[in-house]
Amino acid sequence: MQATPVSHIVIAGGGTAGWMTAAYLARWLDGVDICVTLVESELIGTVGVGEATVPGIRQFIKHLEVKESEFIKATNATFKLGIHFEGWAAPEQSFFHPFAGYGVDLEDRPFYKSWWSAKAQGYRAELDEFCLCTQLAKAGKFAQPSFDSASRLAWYNYAYHFDASLFAKYLRGYAEQRQVKRVEGKISQVHLNPDSGCIQSLELESGVCVEGDLFVDCSGFNALLIEKALGVAYEDWSHWLPCDSALAVQTRSNIAPDPFTRSIARSAGWQWHIPLQHRAGNGYVYSSQHITHDQARHELLSNLRGEPVTDPRLIRFTTGIRTEFWHKNCVAIGLSSGFLEPLESTSISLIQTGINKLAGFLVNFEIQAKHVAEANRLNRLEYERIRDFIILHYALNGRSEPLWQQVRAMPIPATLAEKVEIFTATGDIHLLEQESFVEGSWVSMFYGFGLNPRDAGAVQDAQKLQLLMDKMRSAVYQGAQYALSHQEFLKTLS
Ligand SMILES: Cc1cc2nc3c(=O)[nH]c(=O)nc-3n(C[C@H](O)[C@H](O)[C@H](O)COP(=O)(O)OP(=O)(O)OC[C@H]3O[C@@H](n4cnc5c(N)ncnc54)[C@H](O)[C@@H]3O)c2cc1C
Repeated sequence: MQATPVSHIVIAGGGTAGWMTAAYLARWLDGVDICVTLVESELIGTVGVGEATVPGIRQFIKHLEVKESEFIKATNATFKLGIHFEGWAAPEQSFFHPFAGYGVDLEDRPFYKSWWSAKAQGYRAELDEFCLCTQLAKAGKFAQPSFDSASRLAWYNYAYHFDASLFAKYLRGYAEQRQVKRVEGKISQVHLNPDSGCIQSLELESGVCVEGDLFVDCSGFNALLIEKALGVAYEDWSHWLPCDSALAVQTRSNIAPDPFTRSIARSAGWQWHIPLQHRAGNGYVYSSQHITHDQARHELLSNLRGEPVTDPRLIRFTTGIRTEFWHKNCVAIGLSSGFLEPLESTSISLIQTGINKLAGFLVNFEIQAKHVAEANRLNRLEYERIRDFIILHYALNGRSEPLWQQVRAMPIPATLAEKVEIFTATGDIHLLEQESFVEGSWVSMFYGFGLNPRDAGAVQDAQKLQLLMDKMRSAVYQGAQYALSHQEFLKTLS
């Protein structure tokens, strides 16, 4: 394929992926002579459930040059310091995955290694006592991290929970104010150039044709352009991640919102609880091979915090990846490019990194084969790394129901097996290219599931080390003590 210049970008679909892409491009292309059109059908609607995020979302808000307080108000957002996993390691146990690392490095090695060495010698403090982010979350508090601070203990990150429909509405307003053109209508045909096989135009049921030179497929699970028109295959990963269904329901909030997402293991999957300012999002992700939809509905409704305000909505999915996320003049962003269950809230972040690749590899506003190939390579790696991290939650579970026994016994990808092997031997975290989850996240999983390294290395001076650790622990305790409650913090923004 020759380098193809781009002067008109057409986005098919107006869910979270479509409007995030439109808003990003509107800002990025400010002053550049490239038009952006978005086509969506109100009749089809959106999946509308992506409400928990990871810290990368803050970069997106920053790119748009929007004030955080304005964004929080417009989307009824709350702060998220991490995820509380309940009943995964064993039915009555829980642990926290913070958006942070642990402690301050000691003896020229990562803190977690020193802690594991000290633990092997009888030191009793828990690892998460060295994480301010975790302690704030557990106390229902929130404070802005302080990267200027001399103390590494104040270096953590955060994300948001927001209302998905308000988020899309907000982005739509933002994009339309910046010259993105919206066309309402159902796409009935995708016309290809007979010579190049590239997409030429989208034909709507009304007969209107929308032409362009670069098309972004944000049509969700329909994958109208990338799959139905261009025939790019989908690689199924359900042999590793067998959950294939979700029931989503909203509840009234009658308690102050937690500054974290809850993920609660259930008989055949797990339940999410995402607290917003005005309501909560809930759902049950499960394997339909292990529970019927009716049973899952009953299990979900019996375990809600708060009264339901909607009927549970069933969503079916197949975990996997589009074999090429960029093919010819079409880039798939959002659910059309692949799906990993929302256990670590990674879909919106994959939308974001998809958009970054689109912008980063559209060098000189041209489509060039070598850049397309590199974007595809990086996209696959990124998906695989997240896939491995999610599989780890299942592989280490300590439950007894059939699904949980099955996923504990299944073979895991070699890349993940190697990480687990290196950690259990030495306590080292082995990161690969394109990891979304860095050391702190992997450590939180190994620690949370009760995995210990056989030999984390020798301690130089055990007494001195433990004294320093105690000091750190008390600094964390004090930091958490003086913070405002999450609710009070939110009030300061209004
Ligand atoms: C159960 C579940 C829970 C999730 N939770 C999270 C979470 O907590 N965090 C997270 O990051 N992600 C989560 N996700 C993923 C998240 O919901 C999606 O990544 C996000 O909503 C993006 O969806 P989308 O825009 O790709 O697709 P959709 O929302 O389905 O949008 C598709 C768009 O394409 C349009 N369209 C389709 N066909 C046509 C046509 N023929 N003509 C015109 N328009 C058309 C539709 O009208 C719509 O506008 C979750 C997903 C599921 C299934």
